[in-house]
Amino acid sequence: MKKEFKTESKRLMELMINSIYTNKEIFLREIISNASDAIDKLHYKSLTDKKIKVKKDEFNIFIDINKDKRTLTIRDNGIGMTKEELETNLGTIAKSGSLDFKTENKKKENIDIIGQFGVGFYSAFMVASKVTVISKAFDSNAAYSWESSGVEGYTIKESEKETNGTDVILTIKEGEEYDKYLDQYEIRSLVKKYSDYITYPIKMEVTKRRAKSEKDSEMEEYTEVEVINSLTPLWRRNKKDIKDEDYDTFYSDKFFDYEKPLVHLHNSIEGTIEYNSLIYIPTHAAYDYYSKDYEKGLQLYSNGVLIMEKCADLVPDYFSFIKGVVDSPDLSLNISREILQQNRVLKTIATNIEKHVKTALLDMQKNNFSDYLKFWDAFGLQIKAGIYNDYGMNKDKLQDLLLFYSSKEKKLITLEEYANRNKDEKEIYYACGDSVEQIALLPQVEAVTSKDKEVLYCPNYLDEFVLKVLNKYADKEFKNVCSDAIDLETTEEKEELKKHNEEAKDMLMFIKDAIGVKDVKFTNKLKNHPVCLTSSGNISVDMEKVMNAMPTNENINAEKILEINEAHPIADKLKDLYKNDKEVLKEYSKVLYASARLISGLTIDNPTEITNLICDLIAK
Ligand code: ADP
Repeated sequence: MKKEFKTESKRLMELMINSIYTNKEIFLREIISNASDAIDKLHYKSLTDKKIKVKKDEFNIFIDINKDKRTLTIRDNGIGMTKEELETNLGTIAKSGSLDFKTENKKKENIDIIGQFGVGFYSAFMVASKVTVISKAFDSNAAYSWESSGVEGYTIKESEKETNGTDVILTIKEGEEYDKYLDQYEIRSLVKKYSDYITYPIKMEVTKRRAKSEKDSEMEEYTEVEVINSLTPLWRRNKKDIKDEDYDTFYSDKFFDYEKPLVHLHNSIEGTIEYNSLIYIPTHAAYDYYSKDYEKGLQLYSNGVLIMEKCADLVPDYFSFIKGVVDSPDLSLNISREILQQNRVLKTIATNIEKHVKTALLDMQKNNFSDYLKFWDAFGLQIKAGIYNDYGMNKDKLQDLLLFYSSKEKKLITLEEYANRNKDEKEIYYACGDSVEQIALLPQVEAVTSKDKEVLYCPNYLDEFVLKVLNKYADKEFKNVCSDAIDLETTEEKEELKKHNEEAKDMLMFIKDAIGVKDVKFTNKLKNHPVCLTSSGNISVDMEKVMNAMPTNENINAEKILEINEAHPIADKLKDLYKNDKEVLKEYSKVLYASARLISGLTIDNPTEITNLICDLIAK
């Protein structure tokens, strides 16, 4: 009796059958990986349960080509599937995530999902008109056969099979395009390309030629079973024998990333603790990287056998983007997750990996800045969060990875560059805002840059929090140019300003009361701009913005100071009004304050009132 596929499976299968994906060949990788996983499962079981006896050296995957029947068979002697497992595993698609992705991006061709995620077993339907799976579960006497020719459904019936494991029999589609999947040289090269690191022998009967006899030059063909993969996983091979392409292929194959990684770090450590590690830094953030769904971790192997798909304890949060594998004979297979956390070997490996990653990043920063910019673009936010989190515990480790936009260089620079260029400065100036362009236009920034000072622009909401946590770099204190503590004037200038403020004390107090801020004062730093907003105390205007945007009920208020350019014609006008028309002064003060808030990127509470005031002014 024919059974229906689940709706999702049906859709995915339709995608496969009608696929215009040019890289159809990956189906073999998917099926071989499943076979290898099935053997892993049995191997693991035998290692953790002494009652189970299997001969490790008999594990293998066998590929059989039958040109006459147009079949390609991939056979494994792994754990196999029961009838129920055939039903649930092959009748329903596990990778629902990839399908969600597809639905969200309807316009995108299916090319993307196949390339990026790999789609497992169903990819067989890209090249096969019929797929038959005959399987016998380990420890079971019954074998079953699952068969499907496409979306119409599948059948499961009892079958014959001597030993445990699974045969996946693909009846290859008609047509020249597909003939190559029945060619042993093609299949062999596909195994090499995609599945070379598989830890079990992949065997195939290959045709060879030899001389008929020693004297005779006439040739004859004969067949021989050959192991076609190199067995030793990539990370256990000698670095000297591995090409960059090998590393890249392994990466894209294992981590389903269509883009080459930025760096690979391959280490073989011997000594008190032994391990091999192969770590990658991706070029871009995974689509879910900055979501809570993202799971960090490295694959953990013990002597080539997978113990854990994602071992989170090997990776600090701030480097959660790294991908890779760690393989150590010093870790026991049946170690539990809880014990693993306490494990001394694991801790040492984690510390080493962290050091390697940091060194690699600093090296990239010095020697390949264009790559470092890609890294920064993808993961800079994670590094910033790493500094901010855990009460700044890791700030010393991470501060040299930071980049900020420099007002002088007009590009991203490191704090070290800033410190080296400004050796005599006691302070590192920075300014916050919504974008580099917007920050550059701030009156407070101009006031500092016009004195030939270098300012770091901080357009990201986390930036100022990060700088507050750092507090100092190379003994220079970070200083927000929008804080009232900035003083770049000479003593005479300061004296002069103090005098003016003293003289206008009553008026400034009047304005202060009219608009409700911490303070109002005259300034001499603003060149042509009439007003700006600064703050005193620990919370800057920009921190107020960020903190109030967060989903808490707290209402954070920076201690705001309205600064008025004493050299601007507006100053005299205000003084005049204070003498002659306090009511109007009150209203104009509101307009000035609203303008200063807008320049700082704050909203105003009373836009209608302000608009009416401005329009009255225009109409005058
Ligand atoms: P994935 O391998 O990512 O889980 P697949 O669609 O490739 O997704 O396979 C679905 C499931 O079918 C696997 O998780 C596994 O349980 C089962 N399976 C596939 N091939 C085999 C096999 N050769 N031996 C045992 N189980 C298999």
